Amino acid sequence: MKNNYTLKSLATLLENNKISSKELTSEYLKNIESGKELNCYNTVSKEKALIDAEKSDERRKSQNLRSKFDGIPIGIKDLFCTKGVTTTASSKILSNFVPNYESTVTQKCDDAGLISLGKLNCDEFAMGSTNKTSFFGPVNNPWKSVNSNNKLVPGGSSGGSAAAVSGDLCVASLGTDTGGSIRQPASFTGTVGLKPSYGRVSRWGIVAFASSLDQAGPITKTVEDAAIFLDIISGHDEKDSTSSVNPKENYYENLNPDIKGMKIGIPKEFRSDKLPASTQKSWDECADLLKINGAEILDISLPHTMSALPAYYIIAPAEASSNLARYDGVRYGLRVKGNDLIDMYEKTRSEGFGDEVKRRILIGTYVLSSGYYDAYYIKAQKIRSLIKSDYVEAFKKVDAILTPSTPSTAFEIANEPSDPVQNYLNDIFTVPVNLAGLPGISIPFANDENNLPIGLQLITNSFEEQKLLNVARNIEETINYSETPEKWWLK
Ligand code: GLN
Repeated sequence: MKNNYTLKSLATLLENNKISSKELTSEYLKNIESGKELNCYNTVSKEKALIDAEKSDERRKSQNLRSKFDGIPIGIKDLFCTKGVTTTASSKILSNFVPNYESTVTQKCDDAGLISLGKLNCDEFAMGSTNKTSFFGPVNNPWKSVNSNNKLVPGGSSGGSAAAVSGDLCVASLGTDTGGSIRQPASFTGTVGLKPSYGRVSRWGIVAFASSLDQAGPITKTVEDAAIFLDIISGHDEKDSTSSVNPKENYYENLNPDIKGMKIGIPKEFRSDKLPASTQKSWDECADLLKINGAEILDISLPHTMSALPAYYIIAPAEASSNLARYDGVRYGLRVKGNDLIDMYEKTRSEGFGDEVKRRILIGTYVLSSGYYDAYYIKAQKIRSLIKSDYVEAFKKVDAILTPSTPSTAFEIANEPSDPVQNYLNDIFTVPVNLAGLPGISIPFANDENNLPIGLQLITNSFEEQKLLNVARNIEETINYSETPEKWWLK
């Protein structure tokens, strides 16, 4: 399989009859088979994908296409409910759950003729930054350090989604991002990860983690593909009361990399001595490049940045503890027999949830309990408002903000810190964006001294996805990042 397949290039190949959807789907299924060691997929929908591909080829013959992208196979994070296809959220408690409905986002993919290759591994209930909390085991990053043969984390929680795109186990995938789960794994795997504004993409039919923060988005090889994919999945949905009625734009058609006269902010609070020198260098180089391309670079301040992580780790678990109350063994999912109803609930939940999920439920229940509610939950909500106003002020001065995506590049699976709070620091640059409900994108910029990808993050004001993609495209066009991992799993 060539590495340069993109949604854009595949649409042209299909249009010119250079390849059929069935051939393409078979190629990717072969890649999935030979890439088993990456552990990207929880479920491979082999038969269904091939049947759907044949149907797409027939539509092409009869000139009855659903979209230009009809027949292109993609991967779906195992958090989107898919009718008739197991949806586990990478949890034991949902390991046997087969939804009888389709999420709005996956329905939109189907409406565009995209073919689902299967469901991608992720952290359990999307809680984590390493993909190690999955009931189905960790995902391996397609990248390895030049100095070691040890396996690396792909990031999380959309680790399978990012690794699959990076390792050519699909051309593009769907992820979700509550505190960084699209952008952080994209950064660790040299892919492009886009978290849209809160409300831009419907959450209906996605297994909920923290409903005021969750947002679905694409992981792709290029910024152009991110625009194409956002066109397919975005828009108002009556079934999601938090989905925005703001008209969506034609992101791909209107992609315009001209950034002359734009103002780009560099937030001083994101600077740190602990940032690896190579990440700092990329950040500086990118700012210089934007300047050369006609933008003005301004130092800005987002004073409440350092309070974002503590606020997130109160709000997200609080919402999670409430969302996860529904998994009780009664209606669906795992049920462990008990002596009576309460015993059944307790056994089901203690066997069905993994440690990290239990930790979040405990934290969430604690911060919501009477007596602590004001001290923790209400306080965290106040901090959230302050963070939002930091960005409101910043966007009076600048068009976009440039930061690193993550405080480090991918690290060894075996080296994950045992202290969960250390792990939570992975999201330090991404979490404020979710708290403020803004769109953010991570794009690969360079590789570090170990040949591991470094991602940079761009942020714009709410519903300014077009501007976000335009600036990202400007960088992409200028640097032409084309590093790909050596496929060690094929040897
Ligand atoms: N890593 C963060 C967490 O564990 C973010 C997860 C996400 O965005 N789904 O909560």
